[in-house]
Amino acid sequence: MTDARVRLDVGVATARGQRARNEDSVWAADGAYLVADGMGGHEAGELASRTAIEVLRELSEGVLGPDDVRRTVRRAHAAVRALPATTGRRPGTTATGVVLTDHDDTPCWLVLNVGDSRTYRMAGGVLEQVTLDHSEVAELVASGLVPADEASRHPRRNVVTRVLGGGATSVEPDVWLLPVSPGDRMLVCSDGLTDELSDARIQAELRSQDAAQPAADRLVAAALAAGGRDNVTAIVVDATLRR
Ligand code: CA
Repeated sequence: MTDARVRLDVGVATARGQRARNEDSVWAADGAYLVADGMGGHEAGELASRTAIEVLRELSEGVLGPDDVRRTVRRAHAAVRALPATTGRRPGTTATGVVLTDHDDTPCWLVLNVGDSRTYRMAGGVLEQVTLDHSEVAELVASGLVPADEASRHPRRNVVTRVLGGGATSVEPDVWLLPVSPGDRMLVCSDGLTDELSDARIQAELRSQDAAQPAADRLVAAALAAGGRDNVTAIVVDATLRR
């Protein structure tokens, strides 16, 4: 939804990187800002991420709560599961992002996640990852078996443990409800960004740009300059509260 009390400035950038195709899909309009990172080879990854976004973009309509998000994510999962397994492997996709909503008459962000794409919030110039990666390496870090500073180089870092589609019959997204604070800058991105750039580097790039579009462009350019080994997508959403 849109909220008369909140003004959003939005920037979107995506690039194929060194990959043959761009399997990331994006929705960034009407209060919903979503990234899906498809997998499955040939055209399956693109189709999976696009199919998920086609369902999830409905989150841009109406005042929503966490249960609406869970229901919509389950429908997106079913839609991706219904795609043909052309390469002997079922197509799948991550999905993450932020939806502007209203809770108890307060503007709020609804953040959702399935997989290892990420949603961050920068407040007061400090960047924090809101979502938790559904990946083998994140689980190894959480259980203390791998030190956090080795996670970005770990050979299992791209093994995703929860996806839309894929082999699982059901999926539950993680959902957070956060009040919008004036000056919030939300970042929604695929792992092609976070595999190339540290959180400190992302924070520095975000601080260097006042407007959302140059900030998104700058992040994607930095990831490409760092190697761009995967598709890179970034949405930057800045919130200003009106009185
Ligand atoms: Ca990716």
